[in-house]
Amino acid sequence: MTRWSRAACLSGMLLLSTVSAGARVIISLDYSLDTGGLFDSAAARTAMERAAQVYSDRLVDNLTAITPGGANTWSARIINPGNGAVDYDPGLNGVAANVIKVYVGSRALSGLEVGNGGAGAAMVGGTQSFTDNAASRGQPGALATPKTDVGPWGGSIAFDIKTSWYFGLTPGGLTTSKIDFLTVATHELAHLLGFSASPPSSSWAALVSNGKFTGAKATAAHGGLAPDVSGSHWLGMSSTVGPSGPAQTALMDANLPTGVRRRITLLDWAAMGDIGWEVAIPGDANANGEVDFGDFQMFEQNFGQANARWSQGDFNEDGVVDTTDFTILMKNYGRRQDGTLAPPAAPVDVPEPTVWGVLALGVVIRLMRRGRVVRR
Ligand SMILES: [Zn+2]
Repeated sequence: MTRWSRAACLSGMLLLSTVSAGARVIISLDYSLDTGGLFDSAAARTAMERAAQVYSDRLVDNLTAITPGGANTWSARIINPGNGAVDYDPGLNGVAANVIKVYVGSRALSGLEVGNGGAGAAMVGGTQSFTDNAASRGQPGALATPKTDVGPWGGSIAFDIKTSWYFGLTPGGLTTSKIDFLTVATHELAHLLGFSASPPSSSWAALVSNGKFTGAKATAAHGGLAPDVSGSHWLGMSSTVGPSGPAQTALMDANLPTGVRRRITLLDWAAMGDIGWEVAIPGDANANGEVDFGDFQMFEQNFGQANARWSQGDFNEDGVVDTTDFTILMKNYGRRQDGTLAPPAAPVDVPEPTVWGVLALGVVIRLMRRGRVVRR
């Protein structure tokens, strides 16, 4: 199919907007326990927020609220990121729907450790339905044996204050004497969101057998072979950033050299899917459950932008919105979160279809022109 007829399809599918989908998760960062002071820096907070967006842009589960009251009691427990105290009560009294609360702080970590993150726990009492909801947040698989899903309320992440960090969003200033903060923050958040052998009953741990991660999606992403794991990490696994992106060591490897930026890879995302998360499909910039015209508009408006994110059309998550992302969008156009394809649009219900056709063709032409400029 040529680009032109693709563009016509774009206009025809515009009105199929009744797609049911989960809501994006909201990662709420809290720096109030940062006694180490790393996050006094605006650059550190900006990089932390960008790491959180990697997940809040693509995870689309419906997490229920935890609302204590009366006989139903709930009190969070975390490792205090500022001083390492375990079973610390941060004073959190419930969480709103879809919110994942993350306490971020810094202290001197031991040895070569640069970051340490994980899900929190809670002291819970009350009715069975209240305690079940607190443990699962509406994800039935999080209550199953073995677990097939996760429903965290949040947790905590500590960063080392002795490390020489690079906080930039673009990798250009990352030198061999620095550790890339964005990489470590993205890695630790994945642990907090369930990529972890702790607790041993986690949905991640349930998929590990004889040093292999047996999740179907991760196995498919690894060419049909179950990837190797050690502890809560991949063991020497490489993958790609987006379907056609460069190969790199997967984000959830245990080790990160200085001077290296790693982005989240297809293998990492596949494992997040295996442990129970709904991950927005490639091209679904607005995470509404279908790759459609709204996604095309986000892509078009941000074409050429550096420091871009998924929700702006950076579908291979390499930090730039470019023609590679356009290819991903087109390949997946009309696909839905549940694997089905959107049916063809009914012409009788389309108001002024020619206007939309012209618009869609117009933006494609603009893209192609910009593309030519870039290639010169
Ligand atoms: Zn780790």
